[in-house]
Amino acid sequence: MSKTVPLGDIAAFDDEADVIVIGYGIAGACAALEARRSGGDVLVIERASAGGGSSALSSGLFYFGGGTAVQQAAGYDDSAENMYRFMVASMGMEQANHIRRYCDDNVAHFDWMEAQGVPFERSYYPDKAVFILSTEGLMSTGNEKVWPFRDIATPVPRGHQVQMAGESPGAGAMTPLLARCEEEGVRASHDSIATALIVDEAGGAAGVAIRQTGQDRYYRARRGVVIATGGFGVNKEMLARYFPGLPDTAEPLGTPYTDGSGILLGTAAGAATSGMDGMIATASIYPPGQLIKGIIVNTLGQRFVAEDSYHGRTASFIMEQPGQRAFLIVDADIFAYPEITTAHHELIDGFETVEEMEARLELPSGSLARTMASYNRHAAQGRDPLFNKHPDWLKPLDKGPWAAFDISFNRSNYLYITLGGLKITSDAQVLDGKGAVIPGLYAAGACTAHIPRCGKSYASGMSLGPGSYFGRVAGRVAMGNSAPLSGAAGA
Ligand SMILES: Cc1cc2nc3c(=O)[nH]c(=O)nc-3n(C[C@H](O)[C@H](O)[C@H](O)COP(=O)(O)OP(=O)(O)OC[C@H]3O[C@@H](n4cnc5c(N)ncnc54)[C@H](O)[C@@H]3O)c2cc1C
Repeated sequence: MSKTVPLGDIAAFDDEADVIVIGYGIAGACAALEARRSGGDVLVIERASAGGGSSALSSGLFYFGGGTAVQQAAGYDDSAENMYRFMVASMGMEQANHIRRYCDDNVAHFDWMEAQGVPFERSYYPDKAVFILSTEGLMSTGNEKVWPFRDIATPVPRGHQVQMAGESPGAGAMTPLLARCEEEGVRASHDSIATALIVDEAGGAAGVAIRQTGQDRYYRARRGVVIATGGFGVNKEMLARYFPGLPDTAEPLGTPYTDGSGILLGTAAGAATSGMDGMIATASIYPPGQLIKGIIVNTLGQRFVAEDSYHGRTASFIMEQPGQRAFLIVDADIFAYPEITTAHHELIDGFETVEEMEARLELPSGSLARTMASYNRHAAQGRDPLFNKHPDWLKPLDKGPWAAFDISFNRSNYLYITLGGLKITSDAQVLDGKGAVIPGLYAAGACTAHIPRCGKSYASGMSLGPGSYFGRVAGRVAMGNSAPLSGAAGA
């Protein structure tokens, strides 16, 4: 799996195509569709018996903005510039080119997605949630309202959920995309695992070696190979290397094929990786939203994050605390159990006094009492000088009895996806260790470095959104199509 096959070693190819796409999730399907529409003969290699990947299992949230039809219908003004300002502020400048391109094309990309038959309801879900089982098309899924970002860009919701009730609206995106591919003549080879890239004398990608029903086969790619194989959340060796402190209680999200095989195919051909130590983990305290009015403290009895942060941001800060431990403290006014029961945030107990709670949590003497006194004093004035938690979520925690939930990273059940992967240009071309493009090799989706480098800057939808967009870019660029992206069907 970690080798390449020299082109000259192959006496005869079993098949050939202009563009070979490895992996039939959202990135692969979008790449295949665009390569096909750019005039290519396209072959998708998929390890499972059907397309869909983790994309089909997902909550179907796309991070779209810039003034989409759904945002407009819900009464939100957004622009490419506003979206760009938020994204570079929260996700950093390192991938500013990718962000610029993504934001500038976002409305057209949203329109394209709908034109393929991926539906988004013109409605807004106003409450704090991680995912919803109903069909509203728009919800807030990031840190837009969190300080300092709310002062840098106008906060607007950008989580666009595919219109499909239930736990896996991602299937509502994959079904029409796979149907379009099939209708338009994209060929697919299922139950076929890509085992190596075939490389020419110049080091460029010239094809793919696959294993199918126990046989090795060799497929020639005349124009390019697109790797779209997803993340590496189930690869134990890679996890041990990049996340040495990952506790056994953390669980990967995705199919069993989320094993980083495409990243290894790429690196064997000289590709560079980026952001490999990035992950978004989640075990949200909300819903219900009222729990955000509580405070989160570490084993020193100190707050360390604005509690109104996106759940992945909160989780990232929890991971960094001493012993990866954290407690959610609430008073009688706001007491409720976290609704996402799979997170397994254990209720430690209820307490008549803060001192009792402090002792039971084994916090340094006086630490929690000091933290709460200061928090309560400022909350009564509608302020949070430590972390600037939004005034909507501030209230003094002064109504006993009090309760504590254990929300430690290594006690609760955090679910994660990996964010690092192959390094690509904003044209989805794979880069080598010296920053040069590897000829004929493209990549998109969760096998590439996500725009957000860690859970602190992630927003739900930042995998499906850019994965679909850069998948399209990859398919086009592989076919030499430099026409601007358009929102029209088939364009
Ligand atoms: C429950 C859940 C909820 C989620 N919710 C969201 C959400 O709402 N929004 C969001 O943005 N993200 C979400 N995610 C994450 C997101 O779904 C994935 O990061 C994203 O779907 C990755 O898309 P992809 O096309 O890169 O990979 P995938 O969709 O995983 O597709 C990769 C494909 O490649 C195939 N493959 C792998 N290796 C090989 C190989 N060697 N040869 C041939 N084929 C191979 C796989 O079988 C798979 O079909 C969620 C994930 C899960 C599991």
